[in-house]
Amino acid sequence: MDDRYDVGIVGYGPVGQTLAILLGQRGWRVGVFEKQPAAYPLPRAVLLRIGSRHAGLSGWPDANMFSQPDLERALDARARALPGVEVRRACEAVDIRPAGGDVELMVADPDGEPSQVRARWVVGCDGANSLVRRHLGATVTDLGFFFDWLIVDVVPREPRVWDPINGQLCDPARPTTVVSGGPGRRRWEFMRLPGEEIAELDTEASAWRLLEPWALHPANATLERHAVYTFQARWVDGWWKGRMLLAGDAAHQMPPFAGQGMCSGIRDAANLAWKLDLVLAGKAADALLGTYASERIPQVRQAIELSIALGKVICVADPAAAAARDAAMIAAARATGLTPPLPAPVMGPGLRLDGDPLAGHLFPQGEVRRGNAIGRFDDVVGRGFTLLSPAADPASLLPPDLAAFFASLDGVSAHVAPGGPVHDVSGGYARWFGEHGVGVVLQRPDFHVFGTAPAVDGTAALVGRLRSALGRAA
Ligand SMILES: Cc1cc2nc3c(=O)[nH]c(=O)nc-3n(C[C@H](O)[C@H](O)[C@H](O)COP(=O)(O)OP(=O)(O)OC[C@H]3O[C@@H](n4cnc5c(N)ncnc54)[C@H](O)[C@@H]3O)c2cc1C
Repeated sequence: MDDRYDVGIVGYGPVGQTLAILLGQRGWRVGVFEKQPAAYPLPRAVLLRIGSRHAGLSGWPDANMFSQPDLERALDARARALPGVEVRRACEAVDIRPAGGDVELMVADPDGEPSQVRARWVVGCDGANSLVRRHLGATVTDLGFFFDWLIVDVVPREPRVWDPINGQLCDPARPTTVVSGGPGRRRWEFMRLPGEEIAELDTEASAWRLLEPWALHPANATLERHAVYTFQARWVDGWWKGRMLLAGDAAHQMPPFAGQGMCSGIRDAANLAWKLDLVLAGKAADALLGTYASERIPQVRQAIELSIALGKVICVADPAAAAARDAAMIAAARATGLTPPLPAPVMGPGLRLDGDPLAGHLFPQGEVRRGNAIGRFDDVVGRGFTLLSPAADPASLLPPDLAAFFASLDGVSAHVAPGGPVHDVSGGYARWFGEHGVGVVLQRPDFHVFGTAPAVDGTAALVGRLRSALGRAA
């Protein structure tokens, strides 16, 4: 087989898997190189569903509980079903160098025999100790927030109702997190106390001792694993150099208190995949990739700062400081009631309409009906660059040159309104257009707003701005 890939991905964790899928779905030849012979079997991410079970802005629950190995199995099955994606396990990337316009990867198989592969682009999704990051040579911003926590995953063998399902015990004697670990599992996280040795904490005996208050013991539960993690809060300042890029933990790490580490990496993949697609296809200049880090770093920074803010509430081992924190939180809860959901982070400067306050925000997704098909907009109508208007089919108003440009992007267009050709089932789109005084919106393939116009006759100007932003000639 020809060993030249369009994109070489180093690392097949959830971020490498997601990126491989998003590029494979667009028809690119993707080679993935993963040093481990099998998937990491133990849970890491467990995503919290906080508060309401109703759909969030994108038409799905805002957060969910599951076990990371289950998610990775599902992503692996999808990636391997794509004809352009080749996954090579037990294959470690040991060196990277530029080769003409390509990148050459030296990979070592289990017998240690190195071989060369070439790719037009290489993306390092190779986690916190990234080799690709070392080759980028970028500086790192570190917010200097470190705490050690013992993570204990348990499979109870007796039926038990856990109420509440997820909880944070802010007890200064032992700050503890108790959450669902996905079906059939529970997770406990115990903070290492000042003066406690890691070696003394990270033992099976310590784990069982700390689980005693929950009446868990070897006779009624299986200890799936225990491990001490040092949580860090930092990001790499540059995510692109030459033909190399970074995504996921290779580009940023955060404490897990907000459950946003892997989610942030998956957002990286969603932002990067369509940009690489346009660059590979010659539909945008390489410079488009400069918007990847400029847009994502401010979003990642918000997730890191939120995680630290939660960590500062949780990681308090001093009784007097804990009492002051409790008093302040009780007073705040009395004064303001329930904490509202956090707004979705807004991306930094990049590919969007300057001066439009809605640009860079996540656009909502609602349920629609077209013909006999009913479901979420992207399943029923399509995804990619998308024009939506409550007044008309916006693409039908484009002059021929802009219509041809929009078609070259496989753009999607919809007149979405209650009773319209694309029926707005719950009226959510109508409410959004009304509230914001918008007549047409142009959505990017990662579901963020490129820009809006107050009336549908602003469509041509909007698409024209996109064409210039992509560096395409008029
Ligand atoms: C205790 C804990 C709890 C967490 N909870 C949550 C949570 O609730 N929600 C959430 O969103 N996130 C959570 N996270 C974070 C989440 O697990 C990570 O952010 C996520 O795994 C990062 O994915 P990744 O694909 O970027 O990197 P990784 O999962 O680290 O994958 C990197 C892959 O690259 C491979 N690799 C490395 N170097 C090479 C090389 N040279 N050649 C080939 N392969 C290589 C590695 O073997 C690995 O498979 C948690 C993390 C921990 C530790």
